[in-house]
Amino acid sequence: MKIAFVASEVVPFAKTGGLADVAGSLPKEIKEFGHDIKVFMPKYFSVDEKRFGLEYISWIGSIPIRVSGRSLDVHFHKGYLPNSRVEIYFIDYPRFFHRHTIYTNDIDEDERFILFSKAVIELIQKLKWKPDIVHLNDWQTGLIPLLIKDNYSWDKIFNKTATVFTIHNIGYQGSFPKETLYKAEINPRFFESPGQVEHEGKLNFLKAGISFTDIITTVSETYARELLLPEYSFGMHHVLNYRSEDFYGILNGIDYNIWNPETDKHIPHNYSIKDLSGKLENKKELLKHFGLAFNGNIPVIAVISRLAVQKGFDILLSSMEYLMSLNFQLVLLGSGEYEYESAFNALANKYSHKFGIYVGYNNDLSHLIEAGADMFLMPSHYEPCGLNQIYSLKYGTVPIVRKTGGLADTVKDWDEMSALGKDTGNGYSFTDYNGYALTNAVERSIRDFHNKPVWKKIQTNGMNEDFSWKRSAEKYINLYKKASRK
Ligand code: ADP
Repeated sequence: MKIAFVASEVVPFAKTGGLADVAGSLPKEIKEFGHDIKVFMPKYFSVDEKRFGLEYISWIGSIPIRVSGRSLDVHFHKGYLPNSRVEIYFIDYPRFFHRHTIYTNDIDEDERFILFSKAVIELIQKLKWKPDIVHLNDWQTGLIPLLIKDNYSWDKIFNKTATVFTIHNIGYQGSFPKETLYKAEINPRFFESPGQVEHEGKLNFLKAGISFTDIITTVSETYARELLLPEYSFGMHHVLNYRSEDFYGILNGIDYNIWNPETDKHIPHNYSIKDLSGKLENKKELLKHFGLAFNGNIPVIAVISRLAVQKGFDILLSSMEYLMSLNFQLVLLGSGEYEYESAFNALANKYSHKFGIYVGYNNDLSHLIEAGADMFLMPSHYEPCGLNQIYSLKYGTVPIVRKTGGLADTVKDWDEMSALGKDTGNGYSFTDYNGYALTNAVERSIRDFHNKPVWKKIQTNGMNEDFSWKRSAEKYINLYKKASRK
């Protein structure tokens, strides 16, 4: 099959979250199965041509792309996903994509991704490459199924093309005033007919994707079920229920070439399931990094996260005073909403002997934390898939999570499994979204940390789990086939 994989962020070129990790690894895995897959993304300021060996596509030169009635000259570059033969094409329009951040609140945010969407379609035309599947991701690409089915339906190149649309996080929808319709040249009748692209009086890119794509997926089975409920869907449950027969959950895999304690180049001491002594050495390094004292009997609990309400920081903050009375050390790496940054900074000052914080984005440090911490806390309100708990399992860093979305699909509560007579638990989880349930799970984990044989078993269960991409890639390929048949 020929597959165009379209995403607004791709590791290692640009990343704000899990979507970039998926876009950087899933296409390689699909290529391994013998399919012809090409990736498409915007060329942001941060995409360094020299470093990544990108080539300007001179035979194409520029293509005029119409946005808001103006013709904008877009250029293209080509490269490869690292360590692979997967081609990646960059849509180059500096006036839109050379900004301080990947996503903005600028008034032309709609135009940026209208341009991206149309440029991807017109580049495919120019390449004379007839895709069987166009795989879209999140709201930034949500208009593409409709554009292909309507605006570009005259082009025979797309007459056998099916689309798959993956929701990585329903909290971000790309909602713009009705005028955006005209900027994108979308036929207003799609806005008028109820429930297709309009939501609460606005043009909703995500809803357009859900309405017009052949198959919809999201990044875990539990999240797929949750999205049918008003509580989790941010208003999209009606359209998702309407399309529920074409809606699937596929858990993300992780790239064990990057996230593997045996080979991780970012950590000072590699280790494996057979010999965890390196993990203890990493713990010493980690505590040194944060200026905290090492004591083998005191567990270190870690948090690495965007500091956003989605991630459960309201219930964590409300429990902090109590948690700080318990005997553990806390390290937190994150950046995001100002109110959380300042609240955690203040707490780290107050409890400087046991709470270390790094506000910002730091990839090296995230590896050291995974390697050095004893537990990993992820109390998310909702979590489409979540990656850090899966990394944690591999690193023998026992996850403590709220039972939602992908967290529910990857973490098995030790006590819950024990009650069933099984010793297969790999972490701790709690259901109720409140500080009491959270601290209860933390306290259970601290209790077991001091029971060495039990702790070793929980760590080993986690390290033995396999969440590599291969299985998930096979599921995507099956859905591609299903979409093609539709
Ligand atoms: P989301 O995509 O909702 O942010 P995920 O758990 O799916 O959450 O993915 C988050 C990714 O971003 C992980 O790879 C995580 O390690 C990384 N990450 C988040 N915050 C930071 C940070 N401050 N520094 C380094 N890496 C971070």
